Amino acid sequence: MTSTSPPHSESPNATSCGGLPPKECSQNTDRTSLIGLDRACFESALVKLGERSYRAKQIWHWLYYQGARTFDEMTTLPKSLRTRLSSSCNIDRPTVNRMQQSEDGALKWLVQFADEREVECVHIPEEDRGALCISSQVGCTLTCRFCHTGTQKLVRNLDAGEIVNQVLIARDTIGEWPSPKDGRMISNIVMMGMGEPLYNFDNVARALRIIMDGEGISLSRRRITLSTAGVVPLIERCGRELGVNLAVSLHAVDDELRNQIVPINKKYPIADLLEACRRYPSGRNSRRITFEYVMLKGVNDSDSDARALVRLLDGVPAKVNLIPFNAWPGAPYQCSSNNRMHSFADIINDGGYSAPIRVPRGRDILAACGQLKSDSEQVKRNRTGLS
Ligand code: SF4
Repeated sequence: MTSTSPPHSESPNATSCGGLPPKECSQNTDRTSLIGLDRACFESALVKLGERSYRAKQIWHWLYYQGARTFDEMTTLPKSLRTRLSSSCNIDRPTVNRMQQSEDGALKWLVQFADEREVECVHIPEEDRGALCISSQVGCTLTCRFCHTGTQKLVRNLDAGEIVNQVLIARDTIGEWPSPKDGRMISNIVMMGMGEPLYNFDNVARALRIIMDGEGISLSRRRITLSTAGVVPLIERCGRELGVNLAVSLHAVDDELRNQIVPINKKYPIADLLEACRRYPSGRNSRRITFEYVMLKGVNDSDSDARALVRLLDGVPAKVNLIPFNAWPGAPYQCSSNNRMHSFADIINDGGYSAPIRVPRGRDILAACGQLKSDSEQVKRNRTGLS
C-alpha cells in the first residue's frame, strides 16, 4: 500500500434499497440512469416515474438479455411508454474512442465516460470461448512496480453502470445478443483491468450481481474472476457476498521483496494474505485460487523462490499463473528467460501445483497484462498534440 489513502471504505456500508447506499439510490440528473442500478433500485426508479413494477422486469430483459440500446427497440412496451422513458431515462452506452484488434485476435476498447475519463477493456478470444478483462478504476493507487497502469494516479472509481457498460460494449461488438445459453465468446469475465477492484467493492459487487443475474447477461459466478493485489479485509467479504473466483497478485515469496514489488504488502503481509486465501469459500469448494506471479529476471525467479512458493501455498487449493513480464519504457525490470521460467514452473509442478506460463496476448496493441495505461495516455497525447 502506498502512503496515499485510497478513496474507499474497507468496512461494509450501511445499505438500503436492495443493497445501495441511500445517496447512490437517488437520481439527481435530468434523466435517470438505469444501467448499473440493482434490481431493487431499478424497480423503484421506474415506480417513481409512475410505471407499474412489472415493467421493470420487461425493461431489464430488454437491456441485459436482448441488448437493447434504445427504448424504441423495446417493442413489447406501448409506444407512449417508450417515448416517456426516452425523455426521462438514460440507457446510453459510453463512447468508444478507439477499438483495436491484435494480430492474435485480442480486441481492446478505449471507453470514455461522460466526464471524459477513460478506461480500457480487453477481449482475449480462444477457439470457442473468450475472456473479457474489465477495469474497475481510472488509474490505480497501488503502484505495483512491474505494472505500467500503477504509474497512473488514481483518478476515480468507476460506478456500477460504467463497469457493466464495458461488458455491454464488448457484447455489442462481438454480436452476443440476445444472451446465448451456450457457445459464448465472452464466456468469462476477469476483473484484472485498470484498478484494484476491492478498493471499489460496492460498485464492483453491484456490477457483478447485474452481470450474474439470470434474467439478463446471466454469467455464472464460476466464470467470473476477481483479481486483487491483496486487500485482506475485503477478501472474506468478496467470497461471502459474491462467491466469484479469486486471483491474487502475489509476485514474491517474502515480505521484503513483496513490499517493493507490491507495496500494499506493507499493510497486509504475505502471511495474512495467505490466511485469508485459506478461508476463501470458493477455494474450499474445489475451485482453486489463482496466484499470479510475474517473472522478473534475477528478482523473483530463482529455484529457491519456486521452492518457497510451494511451501507458502501449503493448504491452499491453488494454481499458479506464471506471467512473462511485459516490458514498458522505463520499466525497472526485465523478463526472465524462457529456460528460467520453465525451470521455475517445473519446481511448482513437482510440488503438486499447476503452473502454466501464460502466453502473452495483445502485446502489439498494448493490451497485455500491466500495459493498459500506456496506450490511453498515448492517445491523449496524440489528441492534444503533445509528444
Ligand atoms: S497490478 Fe493492478 S493493483 Fe497493481 S498497480 Fe497495476 S492495476 Fe493497480
